Amino acid sequence: MKVASQQRRAILRAAVGGVVGATCSTLANSAIAAEPLTITPLANDINLISGAGGNVVVVSTADGQVMVDSGAAEFSDVLLETLRELPSSDRIHTLFNTHWHKAQIGSNANIGQSGARIIAHEKTRLHLATDFYLPDQDRYELAQPAAAHPTESFFTGGETVIGGQQITYGHLLEAHTDGDIFVRFSHANVLVVGDVISPEVDPVLDWFGGGWIGGRVDALEFLLNNSDDSTRFVPSVGPAVGRAEVQTEYELMSTLFERLVELIRQGNRPEDSLAAGVMDGLSRNFHDPMKFVYAAQKSLWAHHNTLSHDIV
Ligand SMILES: [Zn+2]
Repeated sequence: MKVASQQRRAILRAAVGGVVGATCSTLANSAIAAEPLTITPLANDINLISGAGGNVVVVSTADGQVMVDSGAAEFSDVLLETLRELPSSDRIHTLFNTHWHKAQIGSNANIGQSGARIIAHEKTRLHLATDFYLPDQDRYELAQPAAAHPTESFFTGGETVIGGQQITYGHLLEAHTDGDIFVRFSHANVLVVGDVISPEVDPVLDWFGGGWIGGRVDALEFLLNNSDDSTRFVPSVGPAVGRAEVQTEYELMSTLFERLVELIRQGNRPEDSLAAGVMDGLSRNFHDPMKFVYAAQKSLWAHHNTLSHDIV
C-alpha cells in the first residue's frame, strides 16, 4: 500500500531538509526520505514500513502492536498515522530499538507517552538519556525526553512473549555502534537487525559510537550461524533480504577486515590504504569508499593490541 496523497507528499518533502542523522548514513536517509511511506507485508501479521528515515517493523498481536525501531522524528506524525492503518492498532504494546541513532528512535517519545514498553540495549538507554558528542559534527546531541527512554534495558539479551508470540533479542557486539541488537520473531523466521547489515547502502561503522569492523564480521557470522535458508533479515535501509545476501556481506567484510589489518599494521593512513587498492575487486561498489576506510581504520586502532616487529 502506498500513502500517496499530495498533502502527505508535501509533508514528506518538507521533512527531507530536516533529517539530521547522528552518524548513520545521512545519504541513505536523504535518498529514501523523498518517497512516501510504504508498507510491505513480511508475514500474515508482520509489516515493514519504509520511508520514515529508517525501516520500522510492526507485528500485530492479540495484545497490540510490537514495533522494532520508530523512524526519524521528522516522520513521527505520518508514521503514527500509518500504524493506525495496520491491525491491532488500538495499542502499541512494545517498541524495540535496534540501536540509538536518530533514524531509529524518532517516535520513541510519542510511543512512550502512550504507555508502551520500550526495550533496548543498556548502551542505547544511556545514549538516549545523556548528551553525547558527535565528532563529525563537533557538537553534542542532546538527551531525549524521558518518555523516549527505554523502560527496560539489557546487556546480553532476553526473551518475551507478547500476544502468544515468542520474541528473542540479543546484543550484536560493536557491529555498528555499541548498542546494536537483533530482534527475532520466531514464528515467522524474521530477524530484524538494524544497521548491522547494509545490503543497499554503504555499511556504516560508527567508530566513535563503539562500532568496529571486527565486531561487524563477528555479528554477521553470528547471524549466519543462527538462521536458515528461509530466514528473512530486515536492515534499517532497504528491503528484507535472505541468508545469501548476509553471506555475501560477511565475505565482503571479512575480506576488508583482513586487508585493513595488514595495511594498518604497515602504518598506512586511510588514504594510503585506498591508494594501495584495499577496495579493489570487491563484490560491490561503495558510494564513499574513503568514508568507510577512514571509519574502519579508526575502529581498528581502538582495538589494536599487537605491534609486530616489522611495523613501519
Ligand atoms: Zn545506525
